[in-house]
Amino acid sequence: MNLEELTKELAVIQDEILTKIKASEAIPQLNDIKVAYLSKKGPLKDLQTKLPTLKPEEKITFGQKINAAKSTIQSAYDKRQEELHLQEVNLRKDKNWIDVTIPGKKISIGHLHPITQLRREAENIFMNMGFEIVEPRSIDTDYNVFEALNIPVGHPARDMWDTFWTTNGYIPITHTSAMQHTILKEHDLPVRAIVPGRCFRQEATDATHEHTFYQIEGVYVDKNITLSDLIGTLKTFLSAFYDRDVQLRIQPSYFPFVEPGLEIMIDCAICKGKEGYCSTCRGKRWIELVPAGPIHPNVLTMAGIDPNEYSGFAWGMGLDRLVMIKYGIEDLRWFHSGDLRFLQQF
Ligand SMILES: [Zn+2]
Repeated sequence: MNLEELTKELAVIQDEILTKIKASEAIPQLNDIKVAYLSKKGPLKDLQTKLPTLKPEEKITFGQKINAAKSTIQSAYDKRQEELHLQEVNLRKDKNWIDVTIPGKKISIGHLHPITQLRREAENIFMNMGFEIVEPRSIDTDYNVFEALNIPVGHPARDMWDTFWTTNGYIPITHTSAMQHTILKEHDLPVRAIVPGRCFRQEATDATHEHTFYQIEGVYVDKNITLSDLIGTLKTFLSAFYDRDVQLRIQPSYFPFVEPGLEIMIDCAICKGKEGYCSTCRGKRWIELVPAGPIHPNVLTMAGIDPNEYSGFAWGMGLDRLVMIKYGIEDLRWFHSGDLRFLQQF
């Protein structure tokens, strides 16, 4: 090959490399082109090996042409490399772009069950009135659940509460009153305590009966405690709980551990006593809410307290019922349904 032919071939190779460099779309592809054309086995090296066939002055001329071509190719390579690098950086920027002004996604974390919310509210009200909070036991002895509350074996009142038993004779508590004897026996007098807790009964469930429910027991024993203390305490609590001046009506009832037994009723805030049917008070205007009464002397005596010196009162209000009336819930079974449509309203 003479100088002219080699020069032509060099021009063809240079054009080919420059075209490929320009057309490359990513840095790895660009590097491959560089390796393919400029390596020891590439076409430029091939041309170089033909130098010895030229005359001495032609060798110099062609050597210069090859160097010039290499330099042009290197410049084109450097330029394209920078372009591709910039392109990649911009692409990455677009992908990872964050608009810090967009409001964050709200994470749903749930909330306390309505019964728990209002149990805490009730506890706060009683604590402000000087009551301490005592946790009941989930299962307790027959003595604590019945006998110490003036309900001996064979007493007909047991039929109202007789319930689940463990095989070794313990009872999942049927009422928070099961804690009354323990409190009276173990606490120094005077005593003011509430027992918020879960109770269990063998019930055919319906809109107002559940096998599992919540109560708040109250116990108050001191010298010279009268019925008016009981009425005043409950009226203060219920007015604070319902955030209005609650009216009470009291009718006689029967519970073996109090004497006399009372049923405390409150005025219905849903119908406010207006004519017509009301599903909350069933048209009666009054709602039976808190069974209560002065503690029976037998109960005090069994706890080692002299009924001639001390007197007191107790109640066992249904927390579920309190909540139902507060929110106008008509069916007790919603509480344990686990239905989010219900729970999310609170
Ligand atoms: Zn009503």
